[in-house]
Amino acid sequence: MPINLIFSTIIFLLTSISTAQDFNTYFAKGSLRIDYIHSATFNDELFSVDNFFHEPFWGGSQLNLIDTFDYGAYKFEVYDSTNNKLIYSRNYSTLCGEWKYTKEAKSLWRSFSESVIMPFPKNTIKLKFYKRLKNMKWELWTKIYVNPKNYMISPTLKTPIKSFKIHDSGDASKKLDIVLIAEGYTQSEIQKFMNDAQRFKDYLLACDPFKQYKSDINIWAIPSVSVESGTDIPGKGIYKNTLFDSHFYTFGTERYLNTTNNIAIRNAAANAPYDQIYILVNTDKYGGAGIYNFYSICTADNKYSDFVFTHEFGHAFAGLADEYYTSEVGVEDFYDLNSEPWEPNITTLVDFNKKWKSMVANSTPIPTPDIEENADILGAFEGGGYIAKGIYRPKHDCSMKSIRYNDFCPVCTKAIIDRIKFYSK
Ligand SMILES: [Zn+2]
Repeated sequence: MPINLIFSTIIFLLTSISTAQDFNTYFAKGSLRIDYIHSATFNDELFSVDNFFHEPFWGGSQLNLIDTFDYGAYKFEVYDSTNNKLIYSRNYSTLCGEWKYTKEAKSLWRSFSESVIMPFPKNTIKLKFYKRLKNMKWELWTKIYVNPKNYMISPTLKTPIKSFKIHDSGDASKKLDIVLIAEGYTQSEIQKFMNDAQRFKDYLLACDPFKQYKSDINIWAIPSVSVESGTDIPGKGIYKNTLFDSHFYTFGTERYLNTTNNIAIRNAAANAPYDQIYILVNTDKYGGAGIYNFYSICTADNKYSDFVFTHEFGHAFAGLADEYYTSEVGVEDFYDLNSEPWEPNITTLVDFNKKWKSMVANSTPIPTPDIEENADILGAFEGGGYIAKGIYRPKHDCSMKSIRYNDFCPVCTKAIIDRIKFYSK
């Protein structure tokens, strides 16, 4: 280890916190939510503060406060301003971060609402936001200070809804907490949502490796009500008045289902302690989305809903990339083939050691020929991350590649387990 790296490691250990006692030194009850507007065009991004909330619950760990996964397209760090100690950090991705790679972004600026959430600080904090450059390096994006005693930080729950703990493994601070929130369910369909939430809970808990870690997971259902049933299908001229204003045809791709109504989503999610937000949309049309530490969304009644539910959660929870490369998507040049992507389950082979090379048998050729006798082994198979050449995936097939419920490859499985442990240990 070079001497400067040893030094910075020691400094990091000294300046980051890691005990429950530390948690109580720096944080009070509940969470701080910061809403901001993220504006972007293909080569530039702006950050503008919108609103601050003191929400009643904190669903995250009191021990694992510093993000140890270098995933995501953005990250934020929280420093206590009295001693400049790093007290919290999280990495994440956003829909706006994907939009930058669309054709539309070449000629247009567009704005998206986004939020970050953290345990509620006791002292004034300094927040540093970073964005990831195309070559995977981090660049400081913006810096803001927040005084928790500022009377503009609203303590009111904007959309109070009774939440239901439908899978209870115990204390939120020691578990992975997933909130399922209802979209496109009218008042008279709320019992249907509760039944759907039970069914989706079963999809997750019957799927490996979630099945083995059931007792590390809590699942909450939040029956939020919409005026109309269903969701927008803009390409077919169908528009519905729903709580989160979700829609298919994101970036021109029919199956890509998203919502840009971040504020309504966060207001609904605030009714339970959460680590991950899952939006369940009341339609039988095929589609969904999952954005790392941002949200997952999928439809309730499609015949492949069990697969879509777990696939999208793979993105949003474990930072998994799509391993497919034949379906149409709305983004272009999403990965830089000269650097190693941050997602744990794809590689450009620029730095395969950082990925799953240690899990591959020495006798397996890299790249690995995609032939029948290699169908069940781990290797590096060309094609993944929306392109056929230059990106490699761990196995011939996986739930991140094809419509296959309960079939995550060993690399995706390990990534999911690592994340569950981070939230529950
Ligand atoms: Zn996989």
